[in-house]
Amino acid sequence: MFSDRDEFKLAFLKRLEMMSGKGFQETNPNDHFMALGHMVREHISMDWINSNEQYRISKNKQVYYLSIEFLLGKVLVQNLLNLGIYDVVKEGLSDLGIPLEELEEMEPDAGLGNGGLGRLAACFMDSLASLQLPGHGCGIRYRHGLFEQKIVDGYQVELPEHWLKNGHVWEVRKNDLAVEIPFWGRVESHFRDGRLTFSHLDAEYVTAIPYDVPVAGYKNGTVNTLRLWSAEASPYPAGRDILKYKRETEAITEFLYPDDAHDEGKILRLKQQYFLVSASLSAIIKQYIDRKGVINDFADHVCIHINDTHPVLAIPELMRILIDRFSLSWEEAWDITSKTICYTNHTTLSEALEKWPVHLFKPLLPRIFMIVEEINERFCKELWEAYPGDWERIERMAIISHSQIKMAHLAIAGSFSVNGVAHLHTEILKEREMNDFHQFYPFKFNNKTNGITHRRWLLKANPELSSLISNAIGDQWIHHPDELERLSGFLNDGAFLQQLDMIKQKRKEQFAKRIWEKQQIAIDPTSIFDVHIKRLHAYKRQLLNILHIMHLYNRIQDDRSFKFYPRTFIFGAKASPGYYYAKKIIKLIHTVADKISRDPVARECIQIIFTENYRVSLAEEIIPAADISEQISTASKEASGTGNMKLMMNGAVTVGTMDGANVEIYEKVGTNGIFIFGLTAEEVLRYQQQGGYHSAEYYHHHEEIKRVVDQLVDGFLPDGAEEFLPIFDSLVDGNDQYFVLRDFASYAAIQEKAGEVYQKRDEWLSMSLKNIAYSGYFSSDRTIGQYAEEIWGIHPVPNFLAK
Ligand SMILES: *Cc1c(COP(=O)(O)O)cnc(C)c1O
Repeated sequence: MFSDRDEFKLAFLKRLEMMSGKGFQETNPNDHFMALGHMVREHISMDWINSNEQYRISKNKQVYYLSIEFLLGKVLVQNLLNLGIYDVVKEGLSDLGIPLEELEEMEPDAGLGNGGLGRLAACFMDSLASLQLPGHGCGIRYRHGLFEQKIVDGYQVELPEHWLKNGHVWEVRKNDLAVEIPFWGRVESHFRDGRLTFSHLDAEYVTAIPYDVPVAGYKNGTVNTLRLWSAEASPYPAGRDILKYKRETEAITEFLYPDDAHDEGKILRLKQQYFLVSASLSAIIKQYIDRKGVINDFADHVCIHINDTHPVLAIPELMRILIDRFSLSWEEAWDITSKTICYTNHTTLSEALEKWPVHLFKPLLPRIFMIVEEINERFCKELWEAYPGDWERIERMAIISHSQIKMAHLAIAGSFSVNGVAHLHTEILKEREMNDFHQFYPFKFNNKTNGITHRRWLLKANPELSSLISNAIGDQWIHHPDELERLSGFLNDGAFLQQLDMIKQKRKEQFAKRIWEKQQIAIDPTSIFDVHIKRLHAYKRQLLNILHIMHLYNRIQDDRSFKFYPRTFIFGAKASPGYYYAKKIIKLIHTVADKISRDPVARECIQIIFTENYRVSLAEEIIPAADISEQISTASKEASGTGNMKLMMNGAVTVGTMDGANVEIYEKVGTNGIFIFGLTAEEVLRYQQQGGYHSAEYYHHHEEIKRVVDQLVDGFLPDGAEEFLPIFDSLVDGNDQYFVLRDFASYAAIQEKAGEVYQKRDEWLSMSLKNIAYSGYFSSDRTIGQYAEEIWGIHPVPNFLAK
């Protein structure tokens, strides 16, 4: 432990030499990072032990958050801030000639997630601990997180990611808490003591080893646990080819699936899902029994939240444990299970709703399949009683139909709460996608609009802006982000707006410097930084953005005196490796960027930067430098978005559609705080249901649209005819599923308006400040507070033993 700078320095030097086996002069930044990391983890450990002890003795209900992804990024600096030792450490290191930023560079991003869903889970962990709530994360320790993206010749190339290369300083492996997970084999039933019992025979076992990662709350002594499971060969491999068995076992936690919207349909993915659920439930039940719980009261003391349907097997798995191990009746087990599990839906895209073919599922998980079958039978019987004769409805709602298991249906039937992630998304679920279920279970549906932790996305990512805010309104906003609203008192304060402007300028210069170092491109830091960062997906419409840039280029070609305020368009996006169309769009962005950079007139106004390998730590550099936030998904398709919230909190102004949480941003900042364009969700859904949209009409009747679309393939772009024909086809012959051409004109108009407002400095800065001032609502502290109160029924358990 260390309490001041000198004590820290001594302890650090000693630790550094002990760990590296080198004299100080010989050590390198990675040695420094490892030494500091271990010191910080030890610093946390007393509070961690005490927090766990509090939870063990507490009678309070506990929640377990099961998620197939946790996109943590780097955690060193966040830990320093939350533990309140940031200044001591930074200054101590600085005395030794070590910049903290240099150490931070050494920490690999823990990229155990694809995008929004995984980052949400990480933000939730921070808020749970900061609110002193008894909430534990359960996930998978993938040996390789999301692939590393390289751009070669404008194409995305995927490389395996190696975050564990130098070991993971934050984790603690707990061999004594390992559990065995059964796969394959067969089930035998017996009639014993007047009841039917089941045994799972000839199973192949896989050992699940927990690695615990501490999650420190903000200066409150609470340290929660994120438990990540790793698959290893069981010591009892039951007579077979040992090497093959070992390889297949370790494969379960080898890779994160690089996909966030399509069902991969891989048996390995199903293994991962059951592995996570079965290991987590074993540990949850053990902890509950150790707390001397009586199994019948389980649902009063434990809540299990499933983040999307990936962990939905928690439902049949809990049933299995209650019936096979605790000998409860089906009815008793169902009563407990359906009062314990709650479910968050993250998408209405039908291709992203998970389904598993029975022929894959049944042999891999024989006992679980039996239970799912019985859940389905009983569920269908209930439906039959409610809707006698309505076969069509029952078929639509069944959990198993046409030899497919529908995971979302299982999730809704077996949980007591189903929430969407933004107001609009929840309404669409209730009124459309899940309408049958909403009619049957109206009481289960509720909304919890997503949030982001302001401690990472503002306090940590933007220390300059954080100080400006604290100087103006005090630092209570860190505990109560709603207090940011007090900034609205400065909307017309010229001197304050000036300072805000200077801070943004400084971060833009920093980012420009980084781009120069990494990509040898000089970008103009006085231009508008127009930022589009998120996974590459057709519905997120990076295509609309790049087509509009081509249109701006055309305007310059037509009229060499046409001038607009210079813009730097910044993209960051990974495409799923098998997502051909998304990869074409990455190539298109690069091809257009190259074309424009060769035109001496156009490049004065337009620059395009594609940042390689978009990830959490890169987001933390881009977001504070952003002027404009592109949130231009086809309305109704983005469930919430959280990138929109991060950018808003850092004073970027949104150019967006009325989709996901953009709608709620609009409600907070009003018409003068955001640039809204395009079709509404209702209009999109009406077109989809009733037809009436013909993209060819937009193509043929709007000269400027026809021109950019033709330019994809007419030789304007090198190799366009081969490269971009699939994009051309999707827009014209494929009837433009995502309404890119339909929204084109209104997008161009709003972008022009945004450019004009940007030049009225005080008006723009005031708009920017308004976004910061009303961003407190989008803190995940608010979101988690609502989950805790309205779904989980949990209360804070302060760590009274905190040192
Ligand atoms: C926040 C975040 C996302 C989600 O962005 P959206 O714009 O909401 O899709 C994805 N990836 C990373 C690295 C993030 O930090």
